[in-house]
Amino acid sequence: MTREPAGKRVKPTDKNRPRDGLEFSFEFFPPKTDVAETRFWNTLSKLAPLKPRFVSVTYGAGGSTRERTLRMVSAINSETGLDAAAHVTCVGATRDEVDRVVLDYANKGISRIVAIRGDPPEGVGQPFQPHPDGYENAAALVAGIARLGRFDISVAAYPERHPQSESWDADIDNLKRKLDAGATRAITQLFFNNGDFLRFLDRARAAGITAPIVPGIQPIHNFTQVSGFAARCGARVPHWLASRFEGLENDNETHALVAAAIVAEQVTDLVKNGCNQFHFYTMNRASLVYALARFLGRRDNT
Ligand code: FAD
Repeated sequence: MTREPAGKRVKPTDKNRPRDGLEFSFEFFPPKTDVAETRFWNTLSKLAPLKPRFVSVTYGAGGSTRERTLRMVSAINSETGLDAAAHVTCVGATRDEVDRVVLDYANKGISRIVAIRGDPPEGVGQPFQPHPDGYENAAALVAGIARLGRFDISVAAYPERHPQSESWDADIDNLKRKLDAGATRAITQLFFNNGDFLRFLDRARAAGITAPIVPGIQPIHNFTQVSGFAARCGARVPHWLASRFEGLENDNETHALVAAAIVAEQVTDLVKNGCNQFHFYTMNRASLVYALARFLGRRDNT
């Protein structure tokens, strides 16, 4: 692993609220190779001047990226001037192991945690079996983290319901438990029909949830890849969306233009409906998120 990958130094930005009244956060995954790591830092350099509220790094399925997540989050925190958030899951780990990971973050000055249950290694379709000495779900994980110190905790929410939830009521109750246990906001699973998100928001508010519910926006860098990923998460890919990308498999330029138009349409509509916070699943790529931010009026370091 190269010690100083190209683009690693990101110019620190001040943390004043941007003038457009919108708040962005950006999600990355920990890179596996030197080439991927260079892209990670280049993407971060490009997006940093947009002044995200925080930048989060995921935790691979089954905790498989624990060391890499820790390394990337620590480097973002110490070298970029951005607020870094670490995803932590409880799948396949004892409470003590999870607690040690969280305390490691705290010792490195990282207090933002995205607390997630995680899925079994076989995927979201399989029932979740907690470790016998582990946290049994995300609500228990949040409570455990909150006991360890003062953390800013985000949790997951599902505009189309979690695939394993028994009913809407059970799904919303579960979200409420996570927030009551000490989380400050929910970030949603990706979704493509804004109606699903807005109905979900209504259900949550009707159940007395007042915490911010931040829409998770997935720009479509590659429709085939994103639709496969959405299917694995239990998120619906509507027919109208698939038809917009039909036949563009070998036409990268048009694909990128269509993707930019779609994400601009989705986010503009959410802004019109009163949303002012957005979490972007960047897939470690800058172009669509950067273009969208410009489209919304955000300028570098403004
Ligand atoms: P939970 O909230 O614990 O539960 C999910 C569902 O299980 C609930 O909707 C509920 O129906 C059911 N359930 C839970 N507890 C109970 C109970 N006591 N009684 C009845 N039903 C119950 N995965 C990773 O591996 N790494 C990541 O970094 C990661 N980051 C993510 C970030 C976001 C913003 C999102 C939306 C998802 C992320 N995921 C990640 C995926 C996540 O692991 C899966 O969606 C997982 O299936 C559920 O995690 P959760 O935290 O929502 O679980």
